Amino acid sequence: MTANRIQHVLDGVVSRETAIGSSDVTEGSFDVSRETYADTPIAAEAARAVRVLNPGRSTFPRPPRRRIITVANQKGGVGKTTTTVNLAVGLAMHGARVLVIDLDPQGNASTGLGIDHHSGVPSIYEVLIGERSLADAAVPVAAAPSLWCVPATIDLAGAEIELVSVDGREARLRWAINGFTDQLDYVFIDCPPSLGLLTVNAMVAANEVLIPIQCEYYALEGLGQLLRNIELVQAHLNQGVRISTILLTMYDGRTRLADQVAQEVRKHFGNLVLDSVVPRSVRVSEAPGYGQSVLTYDPGSRGAMTYLDAAREIAERGVNGPPRPRDAGGPRHAPGRGPE
Ligand code: ADP
Ligand code: MG
Repeated sequence: MTANRIQHVLDGVVSRETAIGSSDVTEGSFDVSRETYADTPIAAEAARAVRVLNPGRSTFPRPPRRRIITVANQKGGVGKTTTTVNLAVGLAMHGARVLVIDLDPQGNASTGLGIDHHSGVPSIYEVLIGERSLADAAVPVAAAPSLWCVPATIDLAGAEIELVSVDGREARLRWAINGFTDQLDYVFIDCPPSLGLLTVNAMVAANEVLIPIQCEYYALEGLGQLLRNIELVQAHLNQGVRISTILLTMYDGRTRLADQVAQEVRKHFGNLVLDSVVPRSVRVSEAPGYGQSVLTYDPGSRGAMTYLDAAREIAERGVNGPPRPRDAGGPRHAPGRGPE
């Protein structure tokens, strides 16, 4: 990494911390001053880790209205589920009331949140076919007091076909969410890796789409199809939906390719792309094996800190409106760019 690049990354950390007005506070045993941030990246890292570990000490702004965010990309393995789980936990740990809807028959989001999803448990399948309300199927998640999950079981695999002949087949999820009257700040919908009826339901139900993009070759391939599908939904089924957020995932700082993909994505999507870029990290991939988010599994890890930063960006963007235009810079995330 060049000296300029390091300075750029640090500037990003400093300006973000300064922007939220909390850089002069004492957190835990760390006396965090602006000078400390600017001068020693390790202190900055430590301070961020303390934030992850002490969520009660800072809250993110809560949205004026319920935000329904569909996490979609028809490619598998780009980080949809990981993003859903970690953003939901990050926001809930910082005071938001969050519901995660697992809309993938694989049930990975349910697993990642430590929720039982064997065939037969109340799930999103019964909700979609009208046998159960969303509230009936929602279960509390241990990671945070204000976090719930509606699990997906393998029964959902048949839903794409079963729903074809059902009334309002594209709007089933929207109706179910409308019927959920408890106050919520965020609903995250984790989509399957396809553009079928389940994903259409998620887009019809949402007001925002979040697209995770893996910093790999082929990352942009197929994106055109996803964007066209979103336009079709906008035109015919839900005028209120828009792409609000792009998150770069699995960034490996050792490869030039990752940088190229990130730059390409920023050139195309501008300010929709979050400043936070999720690094490729073993800790992130280990966490679901323990039914946990990386924020609870290893709060001090770079993956945890970046997901928390991303959650904060989403919370702040939601309240302050679209971000100010800025020129496309390099990725901002925890310094030290190799995988863990
Ligand atoms: P999708 O839901 O789009 O199919 P996942 O979130 O399930 O993608 O991620 C695919 C795989 O990559 C999973 O095994 C997950 O644990 C792993 N993974 C996701 N994000 C990261 C990351 N930042 N670093 C390392 N592994 C990751
Ligand atoms: Mg998934």
